[in-house]
Amino acid sequence: MGNRVTFDTKLTELPGIGVKRAEAFAKLGVFNAGDLLYHFPRAYQHRGRVKPLCEAAEGEVCSVLLTIAQEPVNVTVKGRMTLTKVVAFDETRRCAITFFNQSYLKDVFRIGAAYRFYGKVTLKNAHCEMTSPAFEPYIPGVPLPEFYPVYPLSEGLTQKMVKDAVRFVIEHCDLDKEEMLPLSVREANNLPALGEALRFIHDPAHYTQLNEARNRFIFEELFVFSMGLSLSRRPSGRREAPVMREVELTDFYQALPFAFTPAQQRCAQEIERDLLNDEGTPMARLLSGDVGSGKTVVAALAAYLCVMNAYQCAFMAPTGILARQHYEDLSALLGNLGVRTALLTGSTKAAEKRSIYAGLADGSIQLVIGTHALITDQVCFQQLGLVITDEQHRFGVRQRAALADKGKEVHMLVMSATPIPRTLSLILYGDLQISVIEELPPGRQQVDTFVVDERYRQRLNGFIEKCIVAGGQVYIVCPSVEPSEEELVDLSYKDTEEAMPKLKSAVAYTEQLRAEFPNRRIDFVHGKLKEAQKEKVMTAFAAGDIDILVSTTVIEVGVNVPNASLMIVENAERFGLSQLHQLRGRVGRGKRKSYCVFVSEAKSDASKKRLQALKENQSGYKIAEIDLALRGPGDFFPSKEGGAKQHGALHFKLANLCDDLDLLKAAFGAAEPLAKADPSLAKPEHAKLKNHLEKLWMQFGMTLN
Ligand code: ADP
Ligand code: MG
Repeated sequence: MGNRVTFDTKLTELPGIGVKRAEAFAKLGVFNAGDLLYHFPRAYQHRGRVKPLCEAAEGEVCSVLLTIAQEPVNVTVKGRMTLTKVVAFDETRRCAITFFNQSYLKDVFRIGAAYRFYGKVTLKNAHCEMTSPAFEPYIPGVPLPEFYPVYPLSEGLTQKMVKDAVRFVIEHCDLDKEEMLPLSVREANNLPALGEALRFIHDPAHYTQLNEARNRFIFEELFVFSMGLSLSRRPSGRREAPVMREVELTDFYQALPFAFTPAQQRCAQEIERDLLNDEGTPMARLLSGDVGSGKTVVAALAAYLCVMNAYQCAFMAPTGILARQHYEDLSALLGNLGVRTALLTGSTKAAEKRSIYAGLADGSIQLVIGTHALITDQVCFQQLGLVITDEQHRFGVRQRAALADKGKEVHMLVMSATPIPRTLSLILYGDLQISVIEELPPGRQQVDTFVVDERYRQRLNGFIEKCIVAGGQVYIVCPSVEPSEEELVDLSYKDTEEAMPKLKSAVAYTEQLRAEFPNRRIDFVHGKLKEAQKEKVMTAFAAGDIDILVSTTVIEVGVNVPNASLMIVENAERFGLSQLHQLRGRVGRGKRKSYCVFVSEAKSDASKKRLQALKENQSGYKIAEIDLALRGPGDFFPSKEGGAKQHGALHFKLANLCDDLDLLKAAFGAAEPLAKADPSLAKPEHAKLKNHLEKLWMQFGMTLN
């Protein structure tokens, strides 16, 4: 096949990849050679960190440098399995290594030769053992790679299959021909060429290469994203948004169990003014307000006004849990006023879905609340007038636009509880006007906040019990889903010096808690569960049928269980301040006196200051400012868990809009002039870029005009 592999080469044309394996790759979104090279490692084994055997802890996964001590032997057991037994040593210990059904290895390991082995070390009666470790021959003076990539896999694939396929393409493709970043942009931003960057990211020799490559691809992602925004933001001229008339709102206000706060009133007026303008200019407004400031009822007013004008309203939430909750609140309020409401999520039964589609098409459903299920092709509205999206940053510009596409031109209201620094909002929501609900409804209680370390564990457990006995419920948030015995170098983990603290995982911790609190009802939710399962657990928690809910940050936004009175966040140092503030906002929503406890072993001053700031402040805006001052742009975007994995959500492979703000600015700076100079990307040197952008935009059902 020679040099004829291009990014468009189908996987099945690569050696060793048949239809079946290609299908496994397809599940990862990898269809051709280009996709394969953009299937980046999710982490790297740090094989370069070699330990003396005597320092390996029981069960630790690590690298050791060992010399073969004696001729390996093959033993056949149960008449079928062959064990190859190898004995090797370093200056500190000996190690017995066993391989299964790889009898040829007997002739591979020569006495006196050295190898770097990587795998789990077990200690049995002062004996070291390893089973089927990975290994590489060690030749003095020839450095071995520091890192070994770990790829995301699907069923039927192994690390080796992905690695081999990647290596083949890297060796047989003229990589720099596929370059999409203009040379001038690359030079101005000091970025390696595509070929080099791809070699580095798949097979970095050391941190510097890895960082260089990461930087390039982060920039690239943000650049393509910025190009798309710049191009789609060109003014479209004609404006034909639905024109609405003033309606009598007394019924609405009377149906509310409380009066609007002055801030809610002002925001409601701003929205009304947008909806009632008679020039056909669509509303494009961000309704921003701290957790609990009461955005939902303001949105409900907008929905009511829309429906009273005989237009339909779509209300989109980022998760099924939130959608259901909004549905329950809004159908109670607006249903009483005669508004016909429906809930459409991924877990809605097929028959019901069909009837909702029909109701939306013939106009009998006036308000539909749902998840991304609202932007599927089957959904057609008779007369869509207003699109409301909650917790906007979980969707991104493209989903908004995709939903808006369902009405010719519709009014758009997005709600966000995340105070966004100005620079960022100009880049991301430059097209939106902003209303801020800057005060909380009266009578809100303060949530007492504590920062503790492991020494308080016993007392904390006592406190949990006390809250439950008093009739309250408890949230415990963990940073990861499942435990990992292997400490991988996380792509986002930049600090090479400090050891990563062990993370509490939701699944394992639930087990532990069940043992510690045998009389309590304990369950967990996390982003990897099916939507229906998540909803089931959340519904049970909301109904008071669960005492302790262990979760990842899926419960970060919006969930409302007023009876919950204690929030515990484990490994609190792993979260952004704004995110922690959001988590704290899950309690103190009802009458119960509520508490929030951040558990952290972090010892650095910066970490301590950050957590202290939360203890001392209750305003999300104030906290965002502090966060910005203490560690840059803060956590204004969702972690992978929770938001970004949502189908179709604004999803960067590597970029993290919070850490990479400087790159985002640079990318934007580079994209704008290019979009102006070549608005249809017609120049031949922009062909690859155009191609890339079209693919990206297409994922969201949008086309470049
Ligand atoms: P968020 O802005 O975080 O989305 P919600 O809309 O969920 O907040 O409102 C939080 C709670 O405050 C809800 O239970 C809601 O009914 C209540 N609420 C909203 N506005 C007022 C008000 N003006 N007075 C009293 N309670 C209010
Ligand atoms: Mg809300």
